[in-house]
Amino acid sequence: MKAPTGTTSALALCGALLLAAPDDTMAQSVLSKATRTSESMEPALVHPDQQAAAQAKLDALRTKSGQRPNIVWFLIDDMGYGDPGAYGGGAAIGAATPNMDRLAHEGLKLTSTYSQATCTPTRSAILTGRLPVRTGLTRPILKGDKITVNPWAEEISLPKLLGEAGYATVLSGKWHVGEAEGMRPQDIGFDEYYGYYAAQKEITQGVYKERYPDLVLNPERLEMLRKAGDSRSLIHGFKGGETTEVSRIESTADMAEADQRLKEFSVKKIKELAAGDAPFFLEHSFMKVHADNFASKEFEGKSASKYPYKDAVVEVDAIIGDIVKALDESGELENTFIFVTSDNGPQLDAWPDGGYTPFRGAKGSAWEGGVRVPGVAYWKGTIAAGRESDELFDLMDLFNTSLNLAGIADKIPTDRYIDGLDQTSFLLADDGRSNREKVYIWNEQDLMAMRMYEYKIHVRVVEHKAQWLNIDMTTASDVGLAPWLFNLYIDPKEEYPVGHRMNAWLASMAAELKGHAATFKKYPPKNIGLGQ
Ligand code: CA
Repeated sequence: MKAPTGTTSALALCGALLLAAPDDTMAQSVLSKATRTSESMEPALVHPDQQAAAQAKLDALRTKSGQRPNIVWFLIDDMGYGDPGAYGGGAAIGAATPNMDRLAHEGLKLTSTYSQATCTPTRSAILTGRLPVRTGLTRPILKGDKITVNPWAEEISLPKLLGEAGYATVLSGKWHVGEAEGMRPQDIGFDEYYGYYAAQKEITQGVYKERYPDLVLNPERLEMLRKAGDSRSLIHGFKGGETTEVSRIESTADMAEADQRLKEFSVKKIKELAAGDAPFFLEHSFMKVHADNFASKEFEGKSASKYPYKDAVVEVDAIIGDIVKALDESGELENTFIFVTSDNGPQLDAWPDGGYTPFRGAKGSAWEGGVRVPGVAYWKGTIAAGRESDELFDLMDLFNTSLNLAGIADKIPTDRYIDGLDQTSFLLADDGRSNREKVYIWNEQDLMAMRMYEYKIHVRVVEHKAQWLNIDMTTASDVGLAPWLFNLYIDPKEEYPVGHRMNAWLASMAAELKGHAATFKKYPPKNIGLGQ
């Protein structure tokens, strides 16, 4: 199922089953209980009672603190669903994660949180509330890519809207959503940026001679690599102001310490911001645990496993603890919404420098292993401790939810399609239920699958041709006679389709997919040079 490229092809999708579905644009099936309030908004499950309960909590907090809440996200790169102890990993797989576990146990542990399948798509989607196919940021931007249109010229970012509402906005860490002027964090709405534009592996290719001797030890090749795009620098940039290079990664030992530099910045920044009058939005975006991992001096051998990936998990966990402590010590913890997650599934192509998922597939795939990530919502005194939910949360929901927490839900754009949903009431009400009924899973320009309740339907599948190689050796194909329908509660590894015995479900879910595809008729996808 290709993304529709124009109005005529918008509904030419997915074969006979989709043709059997109702024909009206954006129609919903008999399975759906969601309400569509606007053509440009994803339909939502509405829970008036919990909405009132959540709002009462926010009002009480605002009376107490005198200002809007801070928003702090921890975005870990390529960490697997099964890595944190609270999600079944931790000490059991050689890398204890006491800090993430504590936040999960003292907050809300979400077990069905969905990311996009790779870095750039997730990172742009959470800041725009829009699927990558709508913004054009459909795959990781790589060295040598030629972006033809700056997507940020038209997109409306979360930090831009929060900034207009009086928030201080800071991104600390990895960016990976464009390095040209106009596409950097300090250009798209953040007041301040301190970090590295690229992923660890993009940087280590030029310094890690044991793994890339053909690049690092060949001066001519190394020069070519540098010319293709050199992003080794730690950058400090200000909105409308100066952008400077703080330092440069010249060795794997430098790479090892990168997250320590970012932590020092975030801790210092929190203390500064806490002393000021404005509420703040801090996105702390780790370099780890994306391959190639090198433990920092302090953390080498600190995991029971001793492997670099595991030491990196332990380091990331400790940094989360340090930053939460900084919020606590500066008196901001009770007025701060914290969310901990990973930008996609573990990268198994780099094993053993990759994480763990109990699900099928890994980073890059539409199987659960690629897109199901840990999601912890923590807010001391506001989110009840010990909550756990398997209802759906899409990381794009952070866009709408953050705007609502900032009191500017009315600034959510209405001139473009917004795929995110406001999940404030789900997260804050003590017995909150999700406002999301479906998650759509895309891979670049292809609509692959949809999760609805505990069911997941695939209309296109990626199959790897060698064990572990979920990115480097795969083929993608349309499904055959029928979509592949899985019941994730009895088959979490997506191995045994049940479509033939659930025909009614199959037709209804196909109708939901058709309704989703119909949203592209009025709001066509964009091509920015990453492929169409
Ligand atoms: Ca990633």
